[in-house]
Amino acid sequence: MSNDIKKCRYLYCQHPNREINLKTDDYVLIGQRKYYHKDCKMKCSYSCCKHGGMIDLAHDEYLILDDGCWHKDCKEESELVLKIVDYWNDHIDPDIEKDSAEFSHLRKVIQDLVFDGYDLEYIFFALKRSAKFLHHPPGLKYAVKNDDAKLEWKKKKIAEEAKKMEMVKPEDKVESFQSKRKKKGSFSDIFGGG
Ligand SMILES: [Zn+2]
Ligand SMILES: [Zn+2]
Repeated sequence: MSNDIKKCRYLYCQHPNREINLKTDDYVLIGQRKYYHKDCKMKCSYSCCKHGGMIDLAHDEYLILDDGCWHKDCKEESELVLKIVDYWNDHIDPDIEKDSAEFSHLRKVIQDLVFDGYDLEYIFFALKRSAKFLHHPPGLKYAVKNDDAKLEWKKKKIAEEAKKMEMVKPEDKVESFQSKRKKKGSFSDIFGGG
């Protein structure tokens, strides 16, 4: 195999012999050695991937990080799940261990709730709201499905929206205009040959 030919890591690659010609093909390189055709797929690192587990390199938004390759929204979700688990650790059970049954149980409960259509931000809100009554992961389900919690969340969202509208004041407009001008300046610096 010449140096310009690499093997695509995608198991179901449709290209002849799964070969990538580095000179002529569009490809993605992960780390030092993992090559993929740009029209092939790659596994998403999130165990509860929202897109069936595979990243479509040509069409999906993805991130290449030290801990793997992720759909952008899968990474966001996974981080929020960890934030929820951290909170659980800080406020409900300081003894929860990363590899314990309780940890996987909690993750499972969170993922079931997400699957049922609950937003993670809301799950986190409901958890904080009921933290002092919670002792075991299944309790989180009740905290999330609680009608008062849903109502409070709705009110909170409406209040936040109203605040956002209020914040767009004339002063802010002036400021953002100035920062735009600054950017323009550096842009012309580049062309001026600086
Ligand atoms: Zn391929
Ligand atoms: Zn994913």
